Amino acid sequence: MDMYACDICGYYYAPEYGDEENHIAPDTPFAKLPSNWMCPACNASKDKFCRVGQPTLGAYDQYDLVYSDYID
Ligand SMILES: [Zn+2]
Repeated sequence: MDMYACDICGYYYAPEYGDEENHIAPDTPFAKLPSNWMCPACNASKDKFCRVGQPTLGAYDQYDLVYSDYID
């Protein structure tokens, strides 16, 4: 599934992870997120996200960095 990145803060939405903070279950595609879903990091709306496509290993490394920033 395609990952999406927030244009404002660089948060990655990875469907495999979902969005625990907003009660989005893992394996939820970006297209299936509610229209009022907002970036968990900066509250940007869905239309501020752009598709970054299938993650490469490098993208996951970057994602893990961003993800861990918000989990602690
Ligand atoms: Zn954001």
